Amino acid sequence: MVKKKVGVFKFTCCSGCQVEILNQAERFLELRKKLDFKYMKILKKGKIQKFDIGFIKGAISSKEEVELAKEIREKTDYLIALGSCAVLGGISAMQNFVSAKNKRKTNYTPKDKSVPVEKYVKVEYRLRGCPITGSEFLQMINDLLAGKTLRDLETPVCNECRKNNNECLIEKGEFCAGPITYAGCKAICPENNTSCIGCRGITKDANLKEWKKKMKEKGFEEKSKEVLRIFNHEP
Ligand code: SF4
Ligand code: SF4
Ligand code: SF4
Repeated sequence: MVKKKVGVFKFTCCSGCQVEILNQAERFLELRKKLDFKYMKILKKGKIQKFDIGFIKGAISSKEEVELAKEIREKTDYLIALGSCAVLGGISAMQNFVSAKNKRKTNYTPKDKSVPVEKYVKVEYRLRGCPITGSEFLQMINDLLAGKTLRDLETPVCNECRKNNNECLIEKGEFCAGPITYAGCKAICPENNTSCIGCRGITKDANLKEWKKKMKEKGFEEKSKEVLRIFNHEP
């Protein structure tokens, strides 16, 4: 069997998503029988070449990163945005909401902005989450190798949460972004009695106005604005 040539490219982000892949240890080694990781800095140095599958993790934050993303796109057949930084701008994009005055105290220049990969290059698929879920990553690879078409899960976290019979946090008077957030994480936060903070991004059909209204009524107006900003949504 000819192994697929794979590249994993780090842009502006922490390495949480990459660590999540490596955390799959044994299953990751199994994967390496089918995939040839030609470029993944955490494992080995590589050079940009022709790839069958590419993963961009991290937001685009500089001209150099724009050029690199375009070069990778040109050389990659199937490109995947990996994790919330790449898909949404994510944590890195919090700098977009920092004033120029405060930015001078950081490594960023006042002009820097972190944006989703898709602002500059087309991707074939988005694997959501901050961090991504290792098991979802492996499932995605197996589906891809089996020739299946990958599709975004369009439903909100609430659907998975209700299937798990969790007591609803909003109904208990607590904050939760589950109604407006893409599912796929098996509602892991509410499952553990913790509010969803929307790390997978806002669904296409989300009734944002209604959710904001409900959060305001419950005294969470400021918190909902903060939570939206974390993953680069206008509050
Ligand atoms: S999505 Fe989250 S865990 Fe993944 S690289 Fe970005 S900040 Fe780190
Ligand atoms: S706890 Fe959150 S995710 Fe679960 S049903 Fe309630 S609002 Fe939805
Ligand atoms: S429940 Fe919400 S915050 Fe938690 S992992 Fe899922 S999408 Fe992210």
